[in-house]
Amino acid sequence: MQLRIPGPTPCPPESLQAQGKQMINHRGEEFSSLLNSITDKMKKVFQTKEDVLLLTCSGTGGMEAAIVNTLSPGDKVLSTSVGVFGDRFAEIASQYGANVVRLGGEWGKPVDLEALKKALKADNSITAILTTHNETSTGITNDIKEISTLAGEFDKLLLVDSVSGLSCIDLPVDEWQCDVVISASQKGWMVPPGLAMVSVNEKAWQAYAKAKMPRYYMDFGKAKDYLEKGQNPWTPAISLCYSLDATLDLILKEGLKNVFARHARVAQIARDGIKSLGLSLFAQEDHASNTVTAVKPPDNIDVTGLIKLLREEHGVILAGGQKNLSGKIFRIGHLGMVYEKDIEEVIEALDKALSKVKS
Ligand SMILES: *Cc1c(COP(=O)(O)O)cnc(C)c1O
Repeated sequence: MQLRIPGPTPCPPESLQAQGKQMINHRGEEFSSLLNSITDKMKKVFQTKEDVLLLTCSGTGGMEAAIVNTLSPGDKVLSTSVGVFGDRFAEIASQYGANVVRLGGEWGKPVDLEALKKALKADNSITAILTTHNETSTGITNDIKEISTLAGEFDKLLLVDSVSGLSCIDLPVDEWQCDVVISASQKGWMVPPGLAMVSVNEKAWQAYAKAKMPRYYMDFGKAKDYLEKGQNPWTPAISLCYSLDATLDLILKEGLKNVFARHARVAQIARDGIKSLGLSLFAQEDHASNTVTAVKPPDNIDVTGLIKLLREEHGVILAGGQKNLSGKIFRIGHLGMVYEKDIEEVIEALDKALSKVKS
């Protein structure tokens, strides 16, 4: 089977074996050395010297945590959404009472930096910017460095959803001064779903001190206090921690730069392959993601039928479109444990399947 959706991604044997280990006391020595080991290694992947917290939830939980720990009801926040996950971030903020202003980006395109600058200039009551590093629904990678420069220029807090970017696409969190960055285990980290990792810098801690949104389980302050003892405030997902400890070793052994380069190579194979089959990329190509490729087939192709055929006859599992892209695009996930050969196989299978579903 070729599981090529943008998460959950296939887990390497090291990740699967580690999960099978016996339970330990989560308030004991063994767990604290496990959590300290994970935290040190996560900091390398986040390229940060600031805090990285491990939360027991999927990526959306990490996004919610970022919001409730840094904002207060009534705060004006700017959403740079260009897809489903950007919309989700805005929706969470709005649900907790933030006053969300939308920049109104086009799906398939990156965040419009000029429009962002204009919006920040026009309204100095904005306190924070919500952005998505890698918009998985459209296959776009945004210019976080530039977005962060603008956030710095106008002194706004920057919250970054990098759930499907971090560990695959370069995001030097400290150098680019991203205040809160969220990722999740089932994407490039090659761990089953259930863990979110979140970096929190000094500016974010200052926001935390003033933030009034309700929070309990996801409280960053509690997480940090316990982390100092090598613990989680609540019972952690110990099995997933074993797995993450193992995959972090794989990532660091390969080397971050090599991991990024491999994702870039594999993504190029995906894009070239798609074009060679006469299909179009949904995302603006100069911002096409290295972890997920969104494909817009011609109208005479039944996308749902194509996905079904690929699964049943070729053992290739691809993702469809989300929300209003449902039935219009399909997506190839190439993140985590993925090599050139895997995507070459996907393109080959697509080639065979396409001829059968044309109407
Ligand atoms: C997968 C993903 C999420 C989180 O989704 P969960 O299902 O809650 O893990 C958030 N943002 C992006 C960009 C994602 O790709």
